[in-house]
Amino acid sequence: MMSPLGKLLVIGFGPGDMEHITKRALDALSESEVIIGYNTYVDLIRPLLNGQEIVRTGMTEEVSRAQEAVRQAEMGKKVAVISSGDAGVYGMAGLVYEVLMQKGWRREDGVEVEVVPGISAIQSCASLLGAPVMHDACTISLSDHLTPWETIVKRVEAAASADFVIALYNPRSGRRTRQIVETQSILLRYRDPQTPVGLVKSAYRERQQVIVTTLEDMLNHDIGMLTTVIIGNSSTMVYDGLIVTPRGYQRKYTLDATEQALKPHQRLRTEAEPWSLGAQAGAAPAVPGPSASVAATAVAAQARPQAVAAVQGSPSAAQAGSAPASLAAEALSRLAAGGRLPDDASARWSGQTPAVSASGVGAAAGTATGGFGKPALFEVGVSPGVGNKKFTARQMALLAEIAGEDGEVEYTPDHQIVLRVPCADPEELVGRLRDERLIVMPIGDVFKVKACDFCNMEKDDAVPVAEHLQVVLGGLQAPKETSIALNGCGMACYGAVLEDIGIVYRKGGYDLFLGGKKFGRNAHAAQPVAEGIPGEQITDIVEHIIAEYKEKGHPNERFHKFFKRVGVVAGFRHEDAPATVEVNAVCGD
Ligand code: SAH
Repeated sequence: MMSPLGKLLVIGFGPGDMEHITKRALDALSESEVIIGYNTYVDLIRPLLNGQEIVRTGMTEEVSRAQEAVRQAEMGKKVAVISSGDAGVYGMAGLVYEVLMQKGWRREDGVEVEVVPGISAIQSCASLLGAPVMHDACTISLSDHLTPWETIVKRVEAAASADFVIALYNPRSGRRTRQIVETQSILLRYRDPQTPVGLVKSAYRERQQVIVTTLEDMLNHDIGMLTTVIIGNSSTMVYDGLIVTPRGYQRKYTLDATEQALKPHQRLRTEAEPWSLGAQAGAAPAVPGPSASVAATAVAAQARPQAVAAVQGSPSAAQAGSAPASLAAEALSRLAAGGRLPDDASARWSGQTPAVSASGVGAAAGTATGGFGKPALFEVGVSPGVGNKKFTARQMALLAEIAGEDGEVEYTPDHQIVLRVPCADPEELVGRLRDERLIVMPIGDVFKVKACDFCNMEKDDAVPVAEHLQVVLGGLQAPKETSIALNGCGMACYGAVLEDIGIVYRKGGYDLFLGGKKFGRNAHAAQPVAEGIPGEQITDIVEHIIAEYKEKGHPNERFHKFFKRVGVVAGFRHEDAPATVEVNAVCGD
């Protein structure tokens, strides 16, 4: 039965040109008898009208506009309420429903409502910039007329820290000028100043303006009421004036290869997606392949908060050694969660080993059970010692036994042995490995301490420093995986000078090298920054470098990039290395 009442058509007409409006929006406009909207919007769609009655209102009269629309529809008219973009995105749709709800409107016997979708600014503006959205994104309106500023700040922070691409609507108006400035400074706390930013003003309208800039520089351009600001995420890049956010995790496909490492049907398997929920729920890798590396460091990560709490409760932890207090506390917790204190080093350093070990083992317990009763994958690096490169037969047998049929032991390009097994009881597993005198280290974006074998321990002067660094720094969370390498003589045959942080012992002191890049076509040696540092200072210096990097490094920023960006680390000044080949890294960097 036809309703005796009219109809409300809430129409999003897109960015504002005649080509980007939907067919349904056009039809809905022409079937309506009354058009209600903000003056500028009515002007934009004027060419589409054919004699409808027009109710024009100013910008701030949104509520009265919605009320008037409902009133006219209840009188039996077909009323179009117009919004630019999409009516459900900071548009009129919600307001219309709010007015109806307040009146006790019911779908079955009230006026009919149709919301006609339109292309929202995030989409129209993105299309002009390239493909900046692509991945998880959010919209935030900076207008604090109807939303407390405190709420907006929380949302900006949450989106920034979670690495969302962000579209800022209503970034600035004649009177609201501070919001965008505050927003930029919040974003800069979480993102690289060079993060690509797109400013699109009046997309698909007469005075369209498209600017590609950076987070740091964005305020030096015109931003107004008709601008949408799109902030890239940590992998967004600029190419030939366009902003592009990669579609996914790059390991999954290789852009410059015609032959993909993973065939389409393999790409969707859990083992090819180690970052997925399915992988973390505990599916063991059925077909482990070169690119099917499975990351499930969840155990160590989950164990940490408890361990940190346990450690911070102990007053001695904060005073431990000479590392900055937070670093020391984290080191203790990390050890608690799976690292190993070489016996004498621990005594020298904190004197609190027994208590720490005890709380740590407790903290690591019971966190490895994946969903649905399956054991989670447990992934750890194992090593016979910082300098020691020789596994005993018993250690090898133990690794083989633990790996069994379902696990794997991988030898990485970084000379590291990684053990990866489904495991319900990591505490017990770590205990067994330690009992066989293996060092157990977390994998992923952590600091790795590497050393040479000190010529079969014949040149072992620097071993205590290596062990100290391993105890204090090994396995700590890093912005990006970072190697700290110590070589025991000037031959540096284990390549310390190519690592992120290289230390080379010569009689009389330690030489320090910062910011090497070992892999890639643009690989380069680290910059020599100091020579002959006395033994009693070297660890302090390295710990301070690490503390600065941990504090100021952006997520995913490699140490050499960090050093270049900040210019000075722990007093050491960065110098540009001679230009190397330009590379578009596809794999990680
Ligand atoms: N309903 C609209 C949003 C209205 S809020 C939509 O879905 O797009 C108003 C804000 O939208 C403006 O401050 C601006 O940030 C953005 N906006 C709307 N139209 C735009 C256009 N053509 N170009 C750029 N930004 C636009």
